[in-house]
Amino acid sequence: MSRVVVVGAGIAGLAAAWDLVRAGADVTLLESERRPGGVIVTERRDGFIVEGGPDGFLAAEPELPALAGELGIGDRVVGQRARGSSLWTGTALEVLEEGRAAALLGIEARGADLAAGFRSFAGGMAEPVAALAERLVNNLRFTQGVTGIAPARAGWRVALTGGSSHEADGVVLALPAHGAGRLLEAVGVSGARALGEVVYAPSVTVSLAYRAEQTGRPLEGTGFVTGPDAQATVRACTYASSKFLGRAPDGHVLLRAFLAPADGDPAMLAHAELAPILGLRGAPLWSRAFHWTRGLPRYPAHHAAHVAAVRERLTRLAPLAIAGAGYDGAGVSACVRSGREAARLVASRLGVP
Ligand SMILES: Cc1cc2nc3c(=O)[nH]c(=O)nc-3n(C[C@H](O)[C@H](O)[C@H](O)COP(=O)(O)OP(=O)(O)OC[C@H]3O[C@@H](n4cnc5c(N)ncnc54)[C@H](O)[C@@H]3O)c2cc1C
Repeated sequence: MSRVVVVGAGIAGLAAAWDLVRAGADVTLLESERRPGGVIVTERRDGFIVEGGPDGFLAAEPELPALAGELGIGDRVVGQRARGSSLWTGTALEVLEEGRAAALLGIEARGADLAAGFRSFAGGMAEPVAALAERLVNNLRFTQGVTGIAPARAGWRVALTGGSSHEADGVVLALPAHGAGRLLEAVGVSGARALGEVVYAPSVTVSLAYRAEQTGRPLEGTGFVTGPDAQATVRACTYASSKFLGRAPDGHVLLRAFLAPADGDPAMLAHAELAPILGLRGAPLWSRAFHWTRGLPRYPAHHAAHVAAVRERLTRLAPLAIAGAGYDGAGVSACVRSGREAARLVASRLGVP
């Protein structure tokens, strides 16, 4: 039985491991943290569903529904409830044409795909993560940070913090690009170091809970983005409880603000900026901030050609593939696709069906 080590249990690594297990490989999935999902985090609090990272995926993309179907949670996929968003100009909220807000936030997708809106899971984006982790319970190892890879007789030796190691016939690196770049550089893959040029922008998301009567105006659409003239720390605000069903208990509202890095308490900053825009009265019932020191990746010039060249060099080594947000698209769907493609590559080189 071919042994494959998958490094990183974000959605890309989980998807890769799932396919490799189903193909009949002996899979070990190594994750440095104590939980799976990477930047996908869903928390529950007082009947609210709070997203720390992604809150959905493009409805036009088939990867998540397909994966959910395989995991038996296809009926948990939910569509966007409210539609439309606005631009906060600094003085007024102006309605934007469908898909425009996502484009302003730098979400790269075809206009028609953006216009089709988003989907999510009834219990939040961690649902497919939990379903995958459950299926992979015998393969997943937490608090196992990988510090290096080296050629070994059969394939690879994967070194871990603490000094232990795993032997594997094939490896999938489903890490942020800078992490994978470092590991590949150490085994002499030329050009690998430059994968670190994929910059993961820092951001903060703050969820704020209110009673419905605290909002001074109806929340129309899914939220708003702030224009450059508004000079706001809040770059965008999602009306989470309007966008998807079940995000807040009856009579309550859940907002999620995206902040540019700034000094001060992000929840207080977000509330202070949102209060005059939405006519919020009184303090939030509670707030929850997630700090992403490395959030969404931005690709440098010639990124696709560079990644293709690195992948080409990998074909000369024992089976090894790279996957994740750092290469072929940052959206959750693209990460699933890239994890599955990495699994397919490694499996085919190992002769696993
Ligand atoms: C705030 C935010 C909002 C977003 N919103 C959306 C959205 O609405 N829709 C959408 O489609 N996408 C969204 N995205 C993007 C999308 O969520 C991510 O790009 C995607 O989830 C990344 O998955 P990944 O598996 O490639 O990487 P990650 O989630 O980063 O997973 C990598 C894993 O590798 C582990 N790891 C790192 N180093 C090591 C090591 N040395 N050894 C072992 N393990 C290691 C990490 O702990 C982590 O678990 C958002 C991202 C952020 C940050």
